[in-house]
Amino acid sequence: MNDVCNAPGLLPIETAIQNILGTITPVKDVETISIMQSVDRVLASDVKSTINVPAHNNSAMDGYALCISDKSLTYTQVGSVFAGQVFEETLTPGQCVRIMTGAAIAPGANGVVMQENASVDGDKITFTAQPELNENVRFAGEDIAIDDVILKAGDKLKAVDVGLLASLGIANIDVVRTLKIAVLSTGDELIEPGQPLKQGAIFESNRAVIISALQQKNIDVLDLGIIPDDKELITNAFLKANELADAVISSGGVSVGEADFTKEVLNEIGNIHFWKIAMKPGKPFAFGKLSNSYFFGLPGNPVSAAVTFNQLVEPALQKLSGLGDVNPKMRFNAVTTAVIKKRPGRADFQRGTATINEQGDLVVAPFNKQGSGVLSSLSKANCLIVVPAQSGNIEKGATVSIELL
Ligand code: AMP
Ligand code: MG
Repeated sequence: MNDVCNAPGLLPIETAIQNILGTITPVKDVETISIMQSVDRVLASDVKSTINVPAHNNSAMDGYALCISDKSLTYTQVGSVFAGQVFEETLTPGQCVRIMTGAAIAPGANGVVMQENASVDGDKITFTAQPELNENVRFAGEDIAIDDVILKAGDKLKAVDVGLLASLGIANIDVVRTLKIAVLSTGDELIEPGQPLKQGAIFESNRAVIISALQQKNIDVLDLGIIPDDKELITNAFLKANELADAVISSGGVSVGEADFTKEVLNEIGNIHFWKIAMKPGKPFAFGKLSNSYFFGLPGNPVSAAVTFNQLVEPALQKLSGLGDVNPKMRFNAVTTAVIKKRPGRADFQRGTATINEQGDLVVAPFNKQGSGVLSSLSKANCLIVVPAQSGNIEKGATVSIELL
């Protein structure tokens, strides 16, 4: 197949993602933690409710709970119940109790009339109309019944999920342990920020991007620093990373440059694919298994490294973390405000700014500079414009797909 949709030798990005997700086995280790520490953690097992919510039949209104009598609209008030109290005597037809929203319905009561529809004369309460049977009554277990699965293994806990657990009286929860990821950059030209810049050298930035992104995901980072293009040093770094981490993310040295030892070393210590992915930026990419961990080799170019991390590594880490639903990133249709230049053959992830225009439509302005060395373009962007591999130039005013960053 040698058409523009399948550039020869290039792997479609979808195939790469499928391969990666198919290879990864999620971490299984479980720890029990307080729910107050559990936001953004992945549940290790289903959570079932041990109680009914609401716990008792209760009133949806401030008013009167009554045992319906078809004889009269005037009832005898025999007590009052406020939230947190219970009225223990059983009502008989024609009796009512004053009740507040959320308070347990007295035994025998089978309806609630709101106070606006009642007139009071001592203990005689006259209603404008009889309630329907069970009117304004909320039933025990109506929201959640005992044994209902309320959250599933693989769910990532949101703040309101933590509240839901609290509302069920659950204080501790089993979650998958956090991931530990080793990060390193390779290249003789790389200088640590803060050090003087030598002739021909550049400041190292890929680790800063990757480590920051991992920290945002509450992942433990093992920072192995900058490793020079030296076979022995690279071997030692990879062996250490493999031993200590669930996955290793390196940048640089996956293309076919002369000093690219990563390939040689990884082939000796693991089972790694070196792909040329039909994506721009980010063509070279390595993925595979070391003896104890997974390996992701990002291209050295800063924009390529960031975009391949975003597109290929993020879903992989979701799967590795035990997340049940590893969904593709959400895409939105947006109208492009300028021509998008593109050659058929690779899927493009162009940088742009998405806004809502005066008509209320989502529009996107692609940047002029799309070079893969220009990290500032990614810094200014709030979205990636995803242009399919087979597509050529796109006209101004056409609808395109974007992913928000
Ligand atoms: P490589 O993939 O190692 O051939 O690197 C491709 C380009 O990206 C070269 O211009 C490198 O200098 C640059 N580069 C590689 N690694 C980094 C890094 N960690 N931070 C910034 N630029 C890098
Ligand atoms: Mg290099």
